Amino acid sequence: MRRYIVEVVIGIGLAAVVLGFLAGLDLTPLLLGGGFAVLLKLALDGRAPLGRPFEAISARQSKGVLPQVTFADVGGQDAAKRELMEALAFLKRDSLSKKLGIRPVKGILLVGPPGTGKTLMAKAAANYTDSVFVSASGSQFVEMYAGVGAQRVRRLFKQAASLAEQQGKRSCVVFIDEIDVLGARRGSHHGHMEYDQTLNELLTQLDGIDSSREVQTLIVAATNRPDILDPALLRPGRFDRIVRVDLPDKHGRLRILQIHAKGKPFAPEVDLERIAQETYGFSGAHLENVLNEAAINALRRSSEVIEPSDIQEAIEKVMLGEKLDRTPTAAERRRIAYHEAGHAMMAEHNRPGAVSSITIASRGNALGYIRQSPTADQYLQTRDELVAGIQVCVAGAVSEELFLGQRSTGALGDIKQASEIAKRMVFAGLSPLGIVGSDLPGSILHEAVTEIIRVQEQVVRAYLTEYGAQVRAVAEYLLEHDSITGEQFRGFLERLAS
Ligand code: ATP
Repeated sequence: MRRYIVEVVIGIGLAAVVLGFLAGLDLTPLLLGGGFAVLLKLALDGRAPLGRPFEAISARQSKGVLPQVTFADVGGQDAAKRELMEALAFLKRDSLSKKLGIRPVKGILLVGPPGTGKTLMAKAAANYTDSVFVSASGSQFVEMYAGVGAQRVRRLFKQAASLAEQQGKRSCVVFIDEIDVLGARRGSHHGHMEYDQTLNELLTQLDGIDSSREVQTLIVAATNRPDILDPALLRPGRFDRIVRVDLPDKHGRLRILQIHAKGKPFAPEVDLERIAQETYGFSGAHLENVLNEAAINALRRSSEVIEPSDIQEAIEKVMLGEKLDRTPTAAERRRIAYHEAGHAMMAEHNRPGAVSSITIASRGNALGYIRQSPTADQYLQTRDELVAGIQVCVAGAVSEELFLGQRSTGALGDIKQASEIAKRMVFAGLSPLGIVGSDLPGSILHEAVTEIIRVQEQVVRAYLTEYGAQVRAVAEYLLEHDSITGEQFRGFLERLAS
């Protein structure tokens, strides 16, 4: 009926415009005003062309389907899952909570790096509590026009509650991703009161949640910048549960790989545990991507099973980016080969079995690279381990100098990394300076860092000189074959030694 009325009004309006035009009237101000009103209406409704489309409720949810994700689909994150489930107890055991007079948890903040499964956890929370799930991203509330963001916040909460009613559910989970975009400290957006108004509206909505309502609302928000959030958001009674969702440890990575490996045909030699070990620092999203890329590699080879080499290739792609068609000159290739051979020899010397692969094909920003496999997740490093790290960093440049006569700019990144390690040594009290304060003068720090690196360069020079034949052989092999796996590399060294 409403649509019919709108169509009639539009028809009459158009007819009036045409008549006015025929009668010779100047209709420009009227048309401009009308156009502006339409744009404003679209913005308030959260539709293009002003800003990103605002779709608080996905098609799947609007059909009334609850999120299918359960906590079993979230790999690792055992502590975070436990904490989240504890916080959800008031929704799970609603009547007992009411009897005990427990103030409902209104907001749960999930804090952690991108791709660690925060959205998954929010969906699992909705599933666990049999709630309707409605999601939006912080950036969807931000507009140039005063009042638009606040209006969208109100609409989001209203939609969530009415959807829950329609579905006959007693609770809804409103998930706001990137809450830092709208929840940053008030007054931090210079001359942009719109942000503050939006945040004020969110606070009002949070305060309006109470246990006497028919439909219970729980807000789950995610951020990786909790430090910039307005303190008003974090005070008790608002987002007072903070759950850390960190990068997964080895056990977590294995669980995530197992979850995403389901339904994919792997060759029997594929060892997920080994992949979990090699992918230190990867998030759940990275791991999912590795297995997906590996399947794509198998497809490219027209193979029906995913081989270990497909996975190795995928790990390198996820780590460093797509292989590039950059073609270095013959002299540059030679330099890259000797540089990487130097890194690899030193890495293998410091920790036998460390090298996973060596490549001189460009990928992402790297002209060539060696990949080392960590033995186990480490949260602490000893002095010897830090020194070994510096040695591996400088070995590329030292190898160029020893075998090609001089160094090149190829070592820029390595030197930066070596300096960072040396600085950590200084501030951890592991340098000849002993314990130092954080106010250590820059000149003394500089001297200490260069001295640490200089001493290690000497050690590396002595080692690579002694094993010059091996460095040359590895570099020449790389020039011919582009890359070598860790096993091939070790076999090669053994053959040269015997
Ligand atoms: P962002 O902060 O960038 O929004 P996020 O932490 O919300 O990221 P998700 O969107 O939940 O991350 O994860 C992206 C994808 O990565 C998921 O759809 C899933 O495929 C995979 N993933 C991430 N973490 C996990 C995990 N712990 N278990 C299983 N899969 C995971």
